[in-house]
Amino acid sequence: MPRLVMKFGGTSSADPARLEACAMQIAQKARQGYGLAVVVSAPAGATDKLAAMVQQADVDAQWPDETDAVLAAGEQINAALLAMALRRLGLKARSFTGWQAGMLTDAKHGEARIQHIEAQRLTALIDGGTIAVIAGFQGISPDGRITTLGRGGSDLSAVAFAAALKAQACEIYTDVKGVYSADPNMVGNAKLLRSLSYEEMLEMASQGTKIMQSRSVELALAGQVTLRILSSFESDPGTIINATAGLEQAQVRAISYSRDEARITLHAMPAGSKALADIFDALAGAGLQVDLIVQSPAKHARQSTLVFSLRRADADKALDILINPCHNLSLQDVSLDRQMAKVSVIGIGLRSQTKIAHTLFETLSAKNISIGAVATSETRISVLVAEADIEIAVRSLHSAFELDQN
Ligand code: ASP
Ligand code: MG
Repeated sequence: MPRLVMKFGGTSSADPARLEACAMQIAQKARQGYGLAVVVSAPAGATDKLAAMVQQADVDAQWPDETDAVLAAGEQINAALLAMALRRLGLKARSFTGWQAGMLTDAKHGEARIQHIEAQRLTALIDGGTIAVIAGFQGISPDGRITTLGRGGSDLSAVAFAAALKAQACEIYTDVKGVYSADPNMVGNAKLLRSLSYEEMLEMASQGTKIMQSRSVELALAGQVTLRILSSFESDPGTIINATAGLEQAQVRAISYSRDEARITLHAMPAGSKALADIFDALAGAGLQVDLIVQSPAKHARQSTLVFSLRRADADKALDILINPCHNLSLQDVSLDRQMAKVSVIGIGLRSQTKIAHTLFETLSAKNISIGAVATSETRISVLVAEADIEIAVRSLHSAFELDQN
């Protein structure tokens, strides 16, 4: 019997009526003859509420193990409630916590890495016709403590179980019909993409498209797990993500964006690579990730200007490291722009297509949008723009690359 993993997100399972709707979708797949593992998130908002409770009980964040025991509770409740909804439909179903389902992780609480899935018992049960409803986002550490996989981690659980069960596909049920050529809330005529390669989806996820956590797409790529993103409320085949989709077409497939950006400019950088190395060393040492980087010669011969972008939440910490004498860099003439955003053009084989870069710059300049920094890779071109320009940037690029629904 072919096996299938179905994952339902928080908005798809937020109340009894929606759980009922999930159960109907699952029943349909059971009737089609699939052996089923269903992975659930907590109901929408539940994990945030649990995190707020933890903040009051463990003000100094001293007890990450107990924190995980609290955070994992939302998924456990949903798994059992969904198993009941399936039983009401006359199906054989049973709920599992992460550890009961064999999800073994390391001991890094709050951000645990999956080490192995002990899938024998689970496989036997599923093949015997029981629907396994598994709490996502959680596992167990080597010393037997509950762990969580990081926010958004139930996608990761689903992909990992799909790989361990050698499932035909991992279906991610969510509140949109699939993956669009741009955020449909921003671009009215964004097109539903029927197929994407792992690389394209990975770029979209890591450049701000919020459909799926990027770590999960990486795992799907590594394990060659076919993904399908589809709506839990409408019947539509959604978007399929696998190795072959889209590979032949060197063309732009989608526009992604993120508002969560800030820009730091060092106006009077000492020349030479030593200074650069010291700066990025200090930032990395503080756990800060730098994204786009540009260095250009300044007015004075022995100086240059360095511009880089990073997550907005990290901006103040980075500034402090650069200018505060206690961190040894003591740089002067440093400015910070907090309200930045990043727009990315995504597709396969973009680096070799100069025309794509040309269209991108021409489009933005026609709208008087100035560009803060640029980065290119095989699968994307990203530019930093002022946050105030982001909507125009996304919409005009979407039509310049003819992505509009026809
Ligand atoms: N409930 C967890 C979270 O909110 C995991 C998930 O939804 O994927 O991050
Ligand atoms: Mg999610």
